[in-house]
Amino acid sequence: ALDTETVLHTEGLTKQFGDFVAVDSVDLEVRDGEFRSVIGPNGAGKTTLFNCLTGALRPTSGTVRFRGEDVTRMAPHERVRRGMGRSFQISTVFGGLSVRENVRLSAQSVAESEGEIGLRRQLFTPTDRFESVESRTDEVLAEIGLEDRGDDYARNLAHGDRRRLELGLVLATDPELVLLDEPTAGMGSEETRRTIRLVEEVLADRTMLLIEHDIDLVMNVSDRVTVLNRGQVLATGTPERIAEDDDVQRAYLGG
Ligand code: ADP
Repeated sequence: ALDTETVLHTEGLTKQFGDFVAVDSVDLEVRDGEFRSVIGPNGAGKTTLFNCLTGALRPTSGTVRFRGEDVTRMAPHERVRRGMGRSFQISTVFGGLSVRENVRLSAQSVAESEGEIGLRRQLFTPTDRFESVESRTDEVLAEIGLEDRGDDYARNLAHGDRRRLELGLVLATDPELVLLDEPTAGMGSEETRRTIRLVEEVLADRTMLLIEHDIDLVMNVSDRVTVLNRGQVLATGTPERIAEDDDVQRAYLGG
Protein backbone atom coordinates (compact mmCIF):
# COMPACT_ATOMS: atom_id res chain seq x y z
CA ALA A 1 0.00 0.00 0.00
CA LEU A 2 1.27 3.40 -0.95
CA ASP A 3 1.66 6.15 1.60
CA THR A 4 -1.02 8.78 0.84
CA GLU A 5 1.51 11.46 1.71
CA THR A 6 3.55 10.40 -1.31
CA VAL A 7 2.98 12.71 -4.27
CA LEU A 8 5.51 11.30 -6.72
CA HIS A 9 6.92 7.81 -6.62
CA THR A 10 9.29 6.15 -9.07
CA GLU A 11 10.34 2.53 -8.89
CA GLY A 12 13.22 1.08 -10.86
CA LEU A 13 13.02 3.95 -13.31
CA THR A 14 15.49 3.24 -16.11
CA LYS A 15 16.26 4.96 -19.41
CA GLN A 16 18.70 3.50 -21.88
CA PHE A 17 20.00 5.06 -25.07
CA GLY A 18 21.16 1.99 -26.95
CA ASP A 19 23.44 0.15 -24.52
CA PHE A 20 24.07 3.26 -22.47
CA VAL A 21 22.10 3.46 -19.23
CA ALA A 22 21.45 7.18 -18.59
CA VAL A 23 18.99 6.63 -15.72
CA ASP A 24 19.57 3.44 -13.79
CA SER A 25 16.91 1.92 -11.50
CA VAL A 26 15.97 5.16 -9.77
CA ASP A 27 13.64 4.89 -6.77
CA LEU A 28 12.38 8.29 -5.74
CA GLU A 29 9.66 9.30 -3.32
CA VAL A 30 8.54 12.91 -3.03
CA ARG A 31 6.30 13.67 -0.07
CA ASP A 32 3.47 16.16 0.17
CA GLY A 33 4.76 19.68 0.77
CA GLU A 34 8.43 18.86 0.49
CA PHE A 35 11.01 20.84 -1.47
CA ARG A 36 13.16 18.16 -3.06
CA SER A 37 16.19 18.83 -5.17
CA VAL A 38 17.92 16.38 -7.47
CA ILE A 39 21.53 17.29 -8.03
CA GLY A 40 24.47 15.65 -9.73
CA PRO A 41 27.50 16.35 -11.88
CA ASN A 42 27.20 16.89 -15.63
CA GLY A 43 26.05 13.75 -17.40
CA ALA A 44 24.59 12.26 -14.20
CA GLY A 45 21.22 11.75 -15.89
CA LYS A 46 19.26 14.63 -14.31
CA THR A 47 17.67 15.94 -17.50
CA THR A 48 16.88 12.42 -18.69
CA LEU A 49 15.21 11.69 -15.34
CA PHE A 50 13.25 14.96 -15.54
CA ASN A 51 12.07 14.10 -19.05
CA CYS A 52 10.88 10.67 -17.89
CA LEU A 53 8.90 12.37 -15.10
CA THR A 54 7.22 14.90 -17.40
CA GLY A 55 6.55 12.36 -20.14
CA ALA A 56 8.86 13.94 -22.71
CA LEU A 57 10.77 10.64 -22.71
CA ARG A 58 9.43 7.13 -22.26
CA PRO A 59 11.47 5.11 -19.78
CA THR A 60 12.93 1.77 -20.85
CA SER A 61 11.59 0.18 -17.67
CA GLY A 62 10.25 1.04 -14.26
CA THR A 63 7.25 3.09 -13.19
CA VAL A 64 6.29 6.67 -12.38
CA ARG A 65 3.33 7.13 -10.07
CA PHE A 66 1.59 10.39 -9.25
CA ARG A 67 -0.72 10.25 -6.23
CA GLY A 68 -0.69 6.48 -6.62
CA GLU A 69 -1.74 6.50 -10.26
CA ASP A 70 0.58 4.95 -12.82
CA VAL A 71 1.44 7.75 -15.26
CA THR A 72 4.48 6.05 -16.83
CA ARG A 73 2.96 5.90 -20.32
CA MET A 74 0.86 9.04 -20.07
CA ALA A 75 1.34 12.00 -22.43
CA PRO A 76 2.87 15.18 -20.95
CA HIS A 77 -0.36 17.24 -21.12
CA GLU A 78 -2.29 14.49 -19.34
CA ARG A 79 0.22 14.65 -16.48
CA VAL A 80 -0.19 18.42 -16.30
CA ARG A 81 -3.96 17.97 -16.08
CA ARG A 82 -3.50 15.67 -13.14
CA GLY A 83 -1.46 18.26 -11.30
CA MET A 84 2.12 17.68 -12.39
CA GLY A 85 3.11 21.23 -13.30
CA ARG A 86 6.40 21.74 -15.03
CA SER A 87 8.68 24.42 -16.29
CA PHE A 88 11.45 24.06 -18.80
CA GLN A 89 14.67 25.82 -19.52
CA ILE A 90 13.06 26.77 -22.79
CA SER A 91 10.49 29.42 -22.12
CA THR A 92 6.87 28.89 -23.07
CA VAL A 93 5.89 32.56 -22.86
CA PHE A 94 4.14 34.00 -25.95
CA GLY A 95 5.74 37.40 -26.50
CA GLY A 96 2.99 38.64 -28.81
CA LEU A 97 0.29 38.09 -26.20
CA SER A 98 -0.33 40.16 -23.12
CA VAL A 99 0.81 39.03 -19.71
CA ARG A 100 -2.80 38.35 -18.75
CA GLU A 101 -3.49 36.36 -21.93
CA ASN A 102 -0.47 34.18 -21.28
CA VAL A 103 -1.66 33.33 -17.78
CA ARG A 104 -5.25 32.85 -18.90
CA LEU A 105 -4.23 30.39 -21.64
CA SER A 106 -2.37 28.31 -19.11
CA ALA A 107 -5.27 28.34 -16.63
CA GLN A 108 -7.70 27.54 -19.44
CA SER A 109 -5.73 24.50 -20.61
CA VAL A 110 -6.34 22.80 -17.29
CA ALA A 111 -9.89 24.06 -16.69
CA GLU A 112 -11.13 22.65 -20.01
CA SER A 113 -9.80 19.23 -19.28
CA GLU A 114 -11.27 18.98 -15.82
CA GLY A 115 -14.79 18.51 -17.14
CA GLU A 116 -13.56 15.77 -19.48
CA ILE A 117 -11.43 13.84 -17.10
CA GLY A 118 -12.82 14.67 -13.70
CA LEU A 119 -9.90 13.12 -11.88
CA ARG A 120 -8.51 16.30 -10.39
CA ARG A 121 -10.11 18.40 -7.73
CA GLN A 122 -13.45 19.64 -9.05
CA LEU A 123 -12.74 23.34 -8.89
CA PHE A 124 -15.01 24.23 -11.75
CA THR A 125 -18.52 23.37 -12.82
CA PRO A 126 -19.32 23.91 -16.52
CA THR A 127 -21.37 27.08 -15.89
CA ASP A 128 -18.82 29.00 -13.88
CA ARG A 129 -15.75 27.67 -15.61
CA PHE A 130 -15.06 30.86 -17.52
CA GLU A 131 -15.41 32.98 -14.41
CA SER A 132 -13.13 30.62 -12.57
CA VAL A 133 -10.45 30.92 -15.22
CA GLU A 134 -10.67 34.71 -14.96
CA SER A 135 -10.43 34.70 -11.18
CA ARG A 136 -7.62 32.16 -11.26
CA THR A 137 -5.82 34.47 -13.71
CA ASP A 138 -6.23 37.41 -11.33
CA GLU A 139 -4.98 35.34 -8.42
CA VAL A 140 -1.89 34.26 -10.31
CA LEU A 141 -1.08 37.79 -11.50
CA ALA A 142 -1.23 38.91 -7.87
CA GLU A 143 0.86 35.98 -6.66
CA ILE A 144 3.65 36.76 -9.09
CA GLY A 145 3.40 40.50 -8.48
CA LEU A 146 2.45 41.41 -12.06
CA GLU A 147 -1.11 42.59 -11.42
CA ASP A 148 -0.24 46.01 -12.85
CA ARG A 149 1.40 44.59 -15.97
CA GLY A 150 -1.50 42.43 -17.17
CA ASP A 151 -2.11 44.42 -20.35
CA ASP A 152 1.53 44.69 -21.40
CA TYR A 153 2.92 42.53 -24.16
CA ALA A 154 4.92 39.72 -22.61
CA ARG A 155 7.80 40.53 -24.94
CA ASN A 156 8.14 43.97 -23.32
CA LEU A 157 8.76 42.56 -19.85
CA ALA A 158 12.16 43.02 -18.26
CA HIS A 159 14.04 39.78 -17.78
CA GLY A 160 13.16 39.38 -14.11
CA ASP A 161 9.46 39.97 -14.75
CA ARG A 162 9.56 37.48 -17.58
CA ARG A 163 10.86 34.91 -15.09
CA ARG A 164 7.92 35.77 -12.85
CA LEU A 165 5.55 35.21 -15.73
CA GLU A 166 7.12 31.82 -16.50
CA LEU A 167 6.50 30.73 -12.92
CA GLY A 168 3.00 32.18 -13.21
CA LEU A 169 2.27 29.90 -16.17
CA VAL A 170 3.14 26.91 -13.99
CA LEU A 171 1.05 28.27 -11.10
CA ALA A 172 -1.94 28.87 -13.38
CA THR A 173 -2.28 25.11 -13.85
CA ASP A 174 -2.67 24.89 -10.05
CA PRO A 175 -0.13 22.10 -9.78
CA GLU A 176 0.09 19.79 -6.80
CA LEU A 177 3.68 19.10 -7.76
CA VAL A 178 6.01 21.53 -9.51
CA LEU A 179 8.84 20.10 -11.59
CA LEU A 180 11.58 22.61 -12.35
CA ASP A 181 14.54 21.86 -14.58
CA GLU A 182 17.53 24.10 -13.85
CA PRO A 183 15.59 27.37 -13.60
CA THR A 184 18.84 29.30 -13.30
CA ALA A 185 20.67 27.75 -16.24
CA GLY A 186 22.85 30.29 -18.01
CA MET A 187 22.44 32.98 -15.36
CA GLY A 188 25.08 34.95 -13.52
CA SER A 189 25.36 34.60 -9.77
CA GLU A 190 23.26 37.65 -8.85
CA GLU A 191 20.43 36.71 -11.19
CA THR A 192 20.65 33.13 -9.95
CA ARG A 193 20.17 34.26 -6.36
CA ARG A 194 17.22 36.42 -7.34
CA THR A 195 15.59 33.59 -9.27
CA ILE A 196 15.95 31.11 -6.42
CA ARG A 197 14.47 33.69 -4.05
CA LEU A 198 11.59 34.12 -6.48
CA VAL A 199 10.99 30.36 -6.67
CA GLU A 200 10.93 30.23 -2.88
CA GLU A 201 8.56 33.20 -2.66
CA VAL A 202 6.12 32.21 -5.39
CA LEU A 203 6.12 28.44 -4.96
CA ALA A 204 6.75 28.27 -1.21
CA ASP A 205 3.73 26.17 -0.24
CA ARG A 206 3.92 23.75 -3.17
CA THR A 207 5.50 20.34 -3.42
CA MET A 208 8.63 20.86 -5.49
CA LEU A 209 11.08 18.77 -7.40
CA LEU A 210 13.97 20.92 -8.58
CA ILE A 211 16.64 19.59 -10.90
CA GLU A 212 19.84 21.54 -10.40
CA HIS A 213 23.51 21.26 -11.25
CA ASP A 214 24.78 23.71 -8.64
CA ILE A 215 25.01 21.93 -5.29
CA ASP A 216 25.45 25.15 -3.28
CA LEU A 217 22.30 26.65 -4.69
CA VAL A 218 19.94 23.98 -3.38
CA MET A 219 21.35 23.67 0.12
CA ASN A 220 19.41 26.54 1.69
CA VAL A 221 16.07 25.88 0.06
CA SER A 222 15.66 22.09 0.01
CA ASP A 223 14.06 19.88 2.63
CA ARG A 224 15.79 16.87 1.11
CA VAL A 225 18.37 16.43 -1.61
CA THR A 226 18.83 13.42 -3.90
CA VAL A 227 22.23 13.03 -5.51
CA LEU A 228 22.39 11.36 -8.90
CA ASN A 229 25.65 10.00 -10.26
CA ARG A 230 26.09 7.91 -13.42
CA GLY A 231 22.33 7.50 -13.57
CA GLN A 232 22.03 6.07 -10.07
CA VAL A 233 20.88 7.51 -6.76
CA LEU A 234 24.05 8.00 -4.74
CA ALA A 235 22.38 9.46 -1.66
CA THR A 236 19.19 11.06 -0.39
CA GLY A 237 18.98 13.12 2.76
CA THR A 238 18.83 16.52 4.37
CA PRO A 239 21.17 19.15 2.92
CA GLU A 240 23.31 18.89 6.06
CA ARG A 241 23.75 15.15 5.66
CA ILE A 242 24.40 15.41 1.92
CA ALA A 243 27.04 18.09 2.44
CA GLU A 244 28.97 15.74 4.73
CA ASP A 245 28.65 12.65 2.53
CA ASP A 246 32.05 11.41 1.32
CA ASP A 247 30.60 9.69 -1.76
CA VAL A 248 28.92 12.94 -2.77
CA GLN A 249 32.12 14.91 -2.34
CA ARG A 250 33.97 12.39 -4.50
CA ALA A 251 31.29 12.45 -7.22
CA TYR A 252 31.51 16.23 -7.45
CA LEU A 253 35.29 16.24 -7.43
CA GLY A 254 35.20 13.58 -10.14
CA GLY A 255 37.03 11.06 -7.97
P1 ADP B 1 22.61 15.75 -16.84
O1 ADP B 1 21.32 16.45 -17.08
O2 ADP B 1 22.76 15.25 -15.45
O3 ADP B 1 23.81 16.54 -17.27
P2 ADP B 1 21.71 14.03 -19.01
O4 ADP B 1 20.46 13.39 -18.55
O5 ADP B 1 21.60 15.19 -19.93
O6 ADP B 1 22.62 14.41 -17.75
O7 ADP B 1 22.61 12.96 -19.73
C1 ADP B 1 23.00 11.75 -19.11
C2 ADP B 1 23.80 10.92 -20.08
O8 ADP B 1 22.95 10.43 -21.09
C3 ADP B 1 24.91 11.69 -20.77
O9 ADP B 1 26.05 10.86 -20.87
C4 ADP B 1 24.33 11.98 -22.14
O10 ADP B 1 25.35 12.04 -23.10
C5 ADP B 1 23.43 10.78 -22.37
N1 ADP B 1 22.28 11.13 -23.20
C6 ADP B 1 21.31 12.03 -22.91
N2 ADP B 1 20.39 12.09 -23.89
C7 ADP B 1 20.79 11.19 -24.84
C8 ADP B 1 20.25 10.77 -26.10
N3 ADP B 1 19.11 11.29 -26.59
N4 ADP B 1 20.93 9.83 -26.80
C9 ADP B 1 22.06 9.30 -26.31
N5 ADP B 1 22.63 9.64 -25.13
C10 ADP B 1 22.00 10.58 -24.40
